[in-house]
Amino acid sequence: TRTLADSDPAVFGGIQREVQREKHQIELIASENIVSKAVLEAQGSVFTNKYAEGYPGKRYYQGCAPSDDVETLAIERAKQLFDCGFANVQPHSGAQANGAVMLALTKPGDTILGMSLDAGGHLTHGARAAMSGKWFNAIQYGVKRDDHLIDFDQVEALAKEHRPVLIIAGGSAYPRHIDFARFRAIADEVGAKLMVDMAHFAGLVAGGTHPTPFGHAHVVTTTTHKTLRGPRGGMVLTDDEAIAKKINSAVFPGLQGGPLMHVIAAKAVAFGEALRPEFKTYSQAIIDNAKALAGRLKERGADVVSGGTDTHLALIDLTPLGVTGKDADEALERAAITCNKNGIPFDPLPPVKTSGIRVGSPAGTTRGFGTAEFVEIADMIADVLDGLKKNGEAGDGQVEHAVRQRVEALCQRFPIYPEL
Ligand code: PLP
Repeated sequence: TRTLADSDPAVFGGIQREVQREKHQIELIASENIVSKAVLEAQGSVFTNKYAEGYPGKRYYQGCAPSDDVETLAIERAKQLFDCGFANVQPHSGAQANGAVMLALTKPGDTILGMSLDAGGHLTHGARAAMSGKWFNAIQYGVKRDDHLIDFDQVEALAKEHRPVLIIAGGSAYPRHIDFARFRAIADEVGAKLMVDMAHFAGLVAGGTHPTPFGHAHVVTTTTHKTLRGPRGGMVLTDDEAIAKKINSAVFPGLQGGPLMHVIAAKAVAFGEALRPEFKTYSQAIIDNAKALAGRLKERGADVVSGGTDTHLALIDLTPLGVTGKDADEALERAAITCNKNGIPFDPLPPVKTSGIRVGSPAGTTRGFGTAEFVEIADMIADVLDGLKKNGEAGDGQVEHAVRQRVEALCQRFPIYPEL
């Protein structure tokens, strides 16, 4: 019956500091969002106590009726949201979802083809440091030098040369629409399965403001916590019944033990929210805001990878400003704007430095920022970057202080979690 504040002031204090940070910083990390109070409440529920190995109606433990109810809700809502025939909502994360597909459709040593990390791909798509890169013959495609778009000639040539069993489309820092039909044609040509990892843009697909991978991909994976605005977690979706069966066995008992029922309850809540008409409006605003942010940064002298964005994120090339990604994200944090340094395609700088930053609009859009606010944010970023250009990595303390005050004013106008 003791509250967290009473029983563990140290952890309570950490949570309070995180609450204050989220309230008073502008969040531009493209993979983050601000979930509803309802999602928080579901995730903080007694479902964290429950073991429910198996699937609704086929559990290995007793006492699973309430678990069956919420997992069925999550599954049915996910299917409705993405207009597909099957959903497994149990993966603990996006990495687990991708691992489950690999376990279901490939064997160790098989050849897989995914986008390289430096072109915007994800670790789980065959990067050398990850299991996907160590346990498979992982071939990697990239983007073109001139327009930073996926190099489909290369994808096709690599597919024909290496005959992968699995081709992966999707990434973590790719700002443009992906031609799913083209990927499927290449997969069909070489007898590969196509997996689309829509982790980043799933919320846009759900909102109908981004092309859907369904109808093209054999299997689709996603996280649930980025644009989709749910709890941290993963999910696998498909329309193919044979693949669906394999996915269920791969997630449990293949890769995981008991599902996180409290997270699945929160996923159900988030999917319910995403099915409401407001989510379409939100999803369009995300894109409008990202375009406004990238457009203004371009006017202020930065380069934008691929010239712009179709999605929630933009990759900003700081080379013309003579500023590194590392110096930029540190200075911006000092000014209460959170983003991450990010390599740009063909980046001459190492990943610990980088020539770019990745910025995204999902969290700011959730708190109510519109295009006017995102233009203002771009100006604040550009002011901080100008300080770095002028003074080197120390930046301009006065400018950073002034920006911090402008950030605070904006955060006051668009408060979050008033009850916390
Ligand atoms: N796939 C993509 C495209 C991602 O961007 C990410 C996360 O950054 C993941 C998978 C992995 O998700 P998680 O961090 O939940 O394991």
